[in-house]
Amino acid sequence: MLAIKVGDISVQRIIEWEGPIFEPGKFFPDATLDALARHRHWLVPKAMDGDSGLLILPFQSYLVRTRYHTILIDTCIGCGKNVPHRASWSNRTDQTWLNALQAAGVGPADIDYVFCTHLHVDHCGWNTSFVDGAWVPTFPNAAYIFAREEYAAAETANSPIFQESVLPVMEAGKAKLVATDFALDDQVWLESTPGHTAGHVAVHLASMGHRAVMCGDLIHSPVQCAHPDWGAFVDLDKAQAHNTRQQFMASNAESGRLVLTAHFPSPSMGHFVTEGDAFRFDYLED
Ligand SMILES: [Zn+2]
Repeated sequence: MLAIKVGDISVQRIIEWEGPIFEPGKFFPDATLDALARHRHWLVPKAMDGDSGLLILPFQSYLVRTRYHTILIDTCIGCGKNVPHRASWSNRTDQTWLNALQAAGVGPADIDYVFCTHLHVDHCGWNTSFVDGAWVPTFPNAAYIFAREEYAAAETANSPIFQESVLPVMEAGKAKLVATDFALDDQVWLESTPGHTAGHVAVHLASMGHRAVMCGDLIHSPVQCAHPDWGAFVDLDKAQAHNTRQQFMASNAESGRLVLTAHFPSPSMGHFVTEGDAFRFDYLED
């Protein structure tokens, strides 16, 4: 399933890549082999590759069309980028993501807002494109919404990702730095969800009594529903990330709100459900 409705808001996943990629014991340093073996039967085949044992993750954006605006939440890995820590994400030439956006009936010039849940490489890559020897905003008519804390931390780190995918947006005058509780309007607003990064945000959608929330990287895999204390090795502040993840699952399980995940395997969207002292994730039916 790629597209759903939240009231009168249409939500569509724009996938760049999905497949087996991370060793679970390395991705979640607190995971034990015993615990992983216990969960294998429900992780395979959707969330774990049965042959290699690797976690399956998609890398995707959410295209959101409200009655007012056309919005992208996160922009994947992109092309031509310098990613020092992951060779397979460096200097990509794959146009799958841009083609999928076009197939959804949206060109780069149609995007009004780009929201980045955080500024890691796989969430801001298509922010910019290399044109005539320089990085320029891919979406010429969009305002790019960055949480102020997140931008400040990325600016301090000053990685190639910031230099190529974030700074050129600021220099082009297209970035809007906002508080982590920023509201665009009555249909789209942010929730502060720190821990994975300093200024990480979730993006809420509301229309006609229906609700959904895009959770970014506060959680990476459904195995963390059973083990909310398993932080990803990429979490900046492990204790804070754990607390955020636990609270987020509890409140959304209680409300029954639809959750749009960044990295849970397709169809990626569903509901947290309380199970004992932890949770499970019920996917939307394909
Ligand atoms: Zn990510």
